[in-house]
Amino acid sequence: MGANASENPGCLGSILGLFGIRPVAPPSDESLPYRTRDDFLSPAELSFYRALSAAVGAQVHICPKVNLADVFFVVKPNENMSARGRISQKHVDYLLCHPQSMKPLVGIELDDSSHSRADRQERDALVDGVFAAAGLPLVRVPAAASYSPADLALKLAAHLPGAVAAAPAPVTAPASQAASSGGAAPGCPKCGVPMVLRTASKGEQAGRQFYGCPNYPKCRETRPVG
Ligand SMILES: [Zn+2]
Repeated sequence: MGANASENPGCLGSILGLFGIRPVAPPSDESLPYRTRDDFLSPAELSFYRALSAAVGAQVHICPKVNLADVFFVVKPNENMSARGRISQKHVDYLLCHPQSMKPLVGIELDDSSHSRADRQERDALVDGVFAAAGLPLVRVPAAASYSPADLALKLAAHLPGAVAAAPAPVTAPASQAASSGGAAPGCPKCGVPMVLRTASKGEQAGRQFYGCPNYPKCRETRPVG
């Protein structure tokens, strides 16, 4: 490119204008001081994402950087006021979701050198605890210069759609109580809170009563009446 090009930007501008291309100028409204980050995924995160995509990308959707508050809910929000706040600023590095339902299947944490820092260990312990309490698997992978998609596929195989491995039950919720004890509302098997009587408003069961979880729609557990 000749030296004249930089001295005559107006000429380039008018040529681009012929094709409907306008130079992008930063918006002038500084009451909305936002720009798109160029490091949405760091080079290390992108490298792992590519290996993950090669390993399981045909079987699941890979969601990077998912806020824990979008994955987990608090079963008794009135008794656990601070519980949501403890996770609302935290993300899991990758979440693998079922390709049709987008139901979360397994979380993946990429452990880099910060993994050994005290503040990071405290954060990791909380994240491990939240996943375990909710019965959602979490797999930790040490950060490396490169990854073997075959090894990753092997490590994640038990958590992919069609795997025969039984999902562990949530550790905080008591086992489902029999729903037929004297007409009392059964406990939600997922949340451990008393279910509430509801009436189906549509579908084949319209007008029929059933027990539903008070945490609906976050929890969609139901039990028949009687
Ligand atoms: Zn529930």
